[in-house]
Amino acid sequence: MHDEPSVTVVRLGHRPGRDERMTTHVGLTARALGADEVVLPDNAGQSRDTIRDITDRFGGPFDVECSGSQKALIRNWEGTVVHLTMYGERVQDVEDEIRDAHTGDEEPLLVVVGAEKVSFDVYEAADWNVGVTNQPHSEVAGLAVFLDRLFDGRELDCEWEDAQQRVIPKATGKQVEPVDE
Ligand code: SAM
Repeated sequence: MHDEPSVTVVRLGHRPGRDERMTTHVGLTARALGADEVVLPDNAGQSRDTIRDITDRFGGPFDVECSGSQKALIRNWEGTVVHLTMYGERVQDVEDEIRDAHTGDEEPLLVVVGAEKVSFDVYEAADWNVGVTNQPHSEVAGLAVFLDRLFDGRELDCEWEDAQQRVIPKATGKQVEPVDE
């Protein structure tokens, strides 16, 4: 979260057209649930623009970048690398150790999520391969549960900076109001 060691999410793989919404939702979920940055593949420029637009309107800080060298980012990461995969160790068994490395040792955290099949070198490069259940589901769901566990729910009280508008929570109906400078 914004006043803690950084959390970057890296999205491996993107099939233009087919993955547009999923890649966008990885970024929006990362932003809404307390990560500082998402790194998308080079061919995901449309998703990058949508995530930037939402950040401009609803606030940050949150960075979105595209990169052609995500494997190098993972290999050379100076901090902790967590790869979310249905084949990994159970999140409830390893969350304390990961939180200790992140907030205790103040290590920047890189969270890796896939799209299609993830190659074995990613499993080897990760400090933890983590399953949010050992059932197949989605990178968006896995990321949401993982971040909520990492932050212990504190991300739900996140304050947003430089927003143009904000939602007023209501039991019924929709209320959005401009934010005064
Ligand atoms: N079958 C592919 C593989 O072997 O890597 C996974 C494809 S899955 C649709 C896309 C991504 O969703 C995965 O790379 C992983 O990051 C995430 N994912 C799916 N199920 C998960 C689970 N149970 N726990 C954590 N992450 C999961």
